[in-house]
Amino acid sequence: MSDLQKSRSILQAAKKVMVITGAGISTESGIPTFRGEGGYWRGHRAEDLASPEGFKKNPRLVWDWYGERRTLVSKAQPNVAHLALASWSKRRGGISLLTQNVDELHERAGQTDTVLLHGSLWKNRCRKCKFEHRACELAYPTLPRCKVCNEITGPGVIWFGEALDFSSFHALNLCSIEADVILTIGTSGLVSPTADFIKRAQTKYNTTLINVNPTESNIQATIELRYKATEIIPELTAD
Ligand code: NAD
Repeated sequence: MSDLQKSRSILQAAKKVMVITGAGISTESGIPTFRGEGGYWRGHRAEDLASPEGFKKNPRLVWDWYGERRTLVSKAQPNVAHLALASWSKRRGGISLLTQNVDELHERAGQTDTVLLHGSLWKNRCRKCKFEHRACELAYPTLPRCKVCNEITGPGVIWFGEALDFSSFHALNLCSIEADVILTIGTSGLVSPTADFIKRAQTKYNTTLINVNPTESNIQATIELRYKATEIIPELTAD
């Protein structure tokens, strides 16, 4: 039996499946990951821009970067991996999808109840008073200010060094306890706390882990499917 066939039968037999997606699932929609070629912008590391310190130091630079990212994502389309997951979730039930992505491509593919662990590119959030609202501007000639406290407001994403919202943390905890199988797609396994919950599920609850990633990652899976997401997810999730 091939790893693909084994994975299909494990997923079919599972009562509850937790799907965790990372930046890799959206690369074939034209959105680069931070680790790799897309990791630099105008000579700055993505990790330095996507951080509270980076924003404090130069909000103009950070907003220009986010403006470009919003523009890129607004032109991108969900790919066959996003679409297959959305269709599979509707047909099968018992699937919780949690994503580290902020592009909302799962929602645009028709996925319902997605947990956006790292927030959304299409929101603004004030770091001072925590006021958050939907925002679709592609550029800010004048830096945006919080409607509540007048502080310069930032993108509604969870940056490196910031904690997840309580609701996301709770969903990660609950789903990772309840799942018989975790399917990880396009994540390095280096981003906390998601990576820690995956490890805990494996060591404490003996949860089966199927990992889709064309290259080696920090995830030690029960089954490694070394493919690009679009190459394998439609087949993996077919009836
Ligand atoms: P990450 O840790 O999730 O790593 C990306 C992984 O995807 C890598 O291991 C890579 O080998 C794998 N990958 C690349 N192409 C793939 C493909 N076609 N199919 C399957 N896997 C593939 O992500 P990161 O880039 O280090 O980003 C860290 C955080 O930054 C994310 O968790 C997210 O919050 C944010 N981010 C979001 C987006 C997005 O919304 N699309 C993009 C970049 C970064």
